[in-house]
Amino acid sequence: MTEKILLSSPHMSDEGYEMQYVQEAFDKNWIAPLGENVNEFENELAAKVGAKSAAALSSGTAAIHLALKAAGVGEGDIVFCPSLTFSATANPIIYQNATPVFIDSDYETWNMSPEALEEAFEKYPDVKAVIVVHLYGLSADLDKIVDVCNKHNVVLIEDAAESLGTYYKGQHTGTFGDYGVFSFNGNKIITTSGGGMLVSANDERVEKARFWATQSRDKARHYQHSELGYNYRMSNVVAGIGRGQLKVLEKRVAQKRLIYETYRQELGSLDGVQFMPANKWDEPNRWLSALTLHGQIRPLDVIEALEKENIDSRPIWKPMHLQPFFNDYDFIGDGVAERLFENGLCLPSDTKMTEEDLGKVIKTIKGLWS
Ligand SMILES: *Cc1c(COP(=O)(O)O)cnc(C)c1O
Repeated sequence: MTEKILLSSPHMSDEGYEMQYVQEAFDKNWIAPLGENVNEFENELAAKVGAKSAAALSSGTAAIHLALKAAGVGEGDIVFCPSLTFSATANPIIYQNATPVFIDSDYETWNMSPEALEEAFEKYPDVKAVIVVHLYGLSADLDKIVDVCNKHNVVLIEDAAESLGTYYKGQHTGTFGDYGVFSFNGNKIITTSGGGMLVSANDERVEKARFWATQSRDKARHYQHSELGYNYRMSNVVAGIGRGQLKVLEKRVAQKRLIYETYRQELGSLDGVQFMPANKWDEPNRWLSALTLHGQIRPLDVIEALEKENIDSRPIWKPMHLQPFFNDYDFIGDGVAERLFENGLCLPSDTKMTEEDLGKVIKTIKGLWS
């Protein structure tokens, strides 16, 4: 049995940077809580993306939750959220007892449609916050979305969990909104095994997020709490992995781009195949290579053919407004997210794939067309 070709798996540095930082944490017994790796990972990530301030947290989901809280989102508030995303974008809205309104995608970006967003503002003028996602490392049309949010004076949160290393017009995604969120989950472009980061230009709000994330302990000798707290901080061991991974981010992006370019060259002219969008203002990290199919061969045919060869692939995220759990919430749009879901597919984009692996994936897919 040949080894499985994976969608996207952890890829530690050849140099062993991660182990050096983890070893240091062990040597100094900075196992928990917090410590130098956490502080430095925050500084290094903030410097990398050009954010002023960062808080290292236990997950990207926790970072979205605290961004909503920092934005003042509470019970009964409305939050606009793209429908085409992973459920982790939407769940924290419910944690805050707020109400999501799901926004359609557009074909130009696969992300939040600025037109649908405008429409949502007309219907819900008292909305409290907007979450925009950069799906599969493609950036949303940020100029338009930032404009709409500014015009309505509403907080913008960027879920950049999938887009670390992506630039929009030369600036890192995650730094356009009032808050940005990154994830270091196991399948993301770099990983700490699990973790997240909240970034913002607002130091005070980030400091507040750190406070909430450590059980909201007041500055008192005894244990005193005047606010609800969470156990959301990143551990110092995990942060050591993150510091090492950050050193190879550019390498991972380069490899992801090579994978994407190879797929596009080899598969782009097959009948009915359309690759994910490319926009001149976007420099995507190509976290996952994705395409849509518009001919006789359907995404499931490809997924099953790959599965037979022990190769992993996935459908596009199922839109939130079609999920049983989120069924009752409003959706603004006209079915773009749904059509992307029906026709879309993510190809294996693992940076550990060899040239042979990539060739095998391509050959298996081409086989369906011959
Ligand atoms: C992975 C992901 C998250 C959640 O990050 P975790 O670190 O797994 O909690 C949020 N949003 C999107 C779009 C993601 O892909």
